[in-house]
Amino acid sequence: TIGDNFDRTVSMFPDREALVDCASGTRWTYAEFAAEVNALAAGLLQRGVGKGDRVGIWAPNCPEWALIQYATAKIGAILVNINPAYRSHELQYVLEQAGIRLLVAATSFKASDYAAMIETVRPQCPGLQSVVLIGSNDWRGLVADGLAAQAADPSVLAAAQAALSPDDPINIQYTSGTTGFPKGATLSHRNILNNGYFVGELCHYTEADRVCIPVPFYHCFGMVMGNLACTSHGAAMVIPGPAFDPKATLEAVQAERCTALYGVPTMFIAELAEPGFEVYDLSSLRTGIMAGSPCPVEVMKQVIERMGMSEVSICYGMTETSPVSLQTRSDDTVDQRVSTVGRVGPHLEVKVVDPATGLTVPRGEAGELCTRGYSVMLGYWENPEKTAEAIDAAGWMHTGDIGVMDSEGYVAITGRIKDMVIRGGENVYPREIEEFLYTHPDVLDAQVIGVPDAKYGEELMVWIRMREGAVPLDADGVRAFCDGKLARYKIPRYVHVVDEFPMTVTGKVRKIEMREKSVELIG
Ligand code: ATP
Ligand code: MG
Repeated sequence: TIGDNFDRTVSMFPDREALVDCASGTRWTYAEFAAEVNALAAGLLQRGVGKGDRVGIWAPNCPEWALIQYATAKIGAILVNINPAYRSHELQYVLEQAGIRLLVAATSFKASDYAAMIETVRPQCPGLQSVVLIGSNDWRGLVADGLAAQAADPSVLAAAQAALSPDDPINIQYTSGTTGFPKGATLSHRNILNNGYFVGELCHYTEADRVCIPVPFYHCFGMVMGNLACTSHGAAMVIPGPAFDPKATLEAVQAERCTALYGVPTMFIAELAEPGFEVYDLSSLRTGIMAGSPCPVEVMKQVIERMGMSEVSICYGMTETSPVSLQTRSDDTVDQRVSTVGRVGPHLEVKVVDPATGLTVPRGEAGELCTRGYSVMLGYWENPEKTAEAIDAAGWMHTGDIGVMDSEGYVAITGRIKDMVIRGGENVYPREIEEFLYTHPDVLDAQVIGVPDAKYGEELMVWIRMREGAVPLDADGVRAFCDGKLARYKIPRYVHVVDEFPMTVTGKVRKIEMREKSVELIG
């Protein structure tokens, strides 16, 4: 179980740093972190919280988040990750859907008054027995509120931990909500501990590594590929701040001599564009992970050349598969790392099927990616219908993503089934057009979507973010740039220049929202 693996690391590396929080100045060695975790786990047991009980965590990245993660894992309580961007309506949905009994929440975050929102929904959530508020950067709040045990008999905690099985549910994580309403994936110790461990193996982590984690803990990128990869290898988790900030991230890497840095592509784009980027000393960086959405080739090259992340790894995965199923290796060529998401991870299977027939397509042909192995979730929480749609009788998780596998097993992601545009009978993959537009010197980022069209069924529209100071492109400008280089049917008809795209908190562009707005824009 996660608790057993954690205890093993603590016994091997008690004096190495486990967690550094740059915002609050908190620094814990593994021995210190374990003492906090055990006190909290014992305190939860004394409150009557135990195996199978749902404990919600609603907070940005902070040391308390990691404390709750490991304390609940030790006693077998099911941690429910709540998106920091949620508002009262969504909070109420998760509290009820997951049946949360104890909620640990930040008092407030950014402009959101969490405490007030909790009070608003509490009368409608009778199952919610207690709420513990933590100051955004003060883990001591947990102790002050009596959550951590003052004097506990260690044998009680040991017995609770020994009663757990690796296949028990330990975590409910909601998907990003990129393509619709978030779904709660129920994950076991076996699911996420193995995933964190193997991600760390492929990054060659040891106790000497220091991993900068600006991606949210509430998502598996942070809590599994970040925290669990670190604690299963004795590496240090470095939290640059409660929310992503490019400057704070670069400062954290420099000050903490981080060896690895995580991010979704948009975060790396922001870091590379940060004024004064060149003055940061990033020479400690060796590796890192870029995942979550497609990475433009140019960004990948800059991450390797200008940030010095020579071994940077691309991962592909989804919440439902704990998350990673494909990953590039440090000895893959730069070309393999910019054009694919690597090969299948250890002890997992991946296949590409024709969504219409379910048959595996020949190598080199596009189809729906499917994954099978230890990483596939137990199911969607209390949603057997959706589970049955996603996982077939043979145990394959159908991802909804389109990919191509080459003869050596490298997979390129070409889009999501839901994002594919069908214009006049032609299948158009937005990714291809986005990659091309990205080569325009004035374009910072581009996102292509389909909008309804009377003549062609769907027409292409591109939303563009321009580089600072550049003259905004219009439809004629885009057409002139694409003419002769892209097939006519792939050239976007509508152009919309924006400062920001609508994003999920995990840093993904919400095309669903862009499509809704675009329909209004084109009237
Ligand atoms: P929802 O399922 O709620 O619509 P979501 O699928 O974005 O949201 P996640 O589970 O956080 O929620 O993300 C998984 C998805 O992210 C994958 O299905 C895939 O579409 C995309 N993705 C992940 N990694 C990569 C990658 N390296 N390259 C391209 N796409 C990726
Ligand atoms: Mg999904």
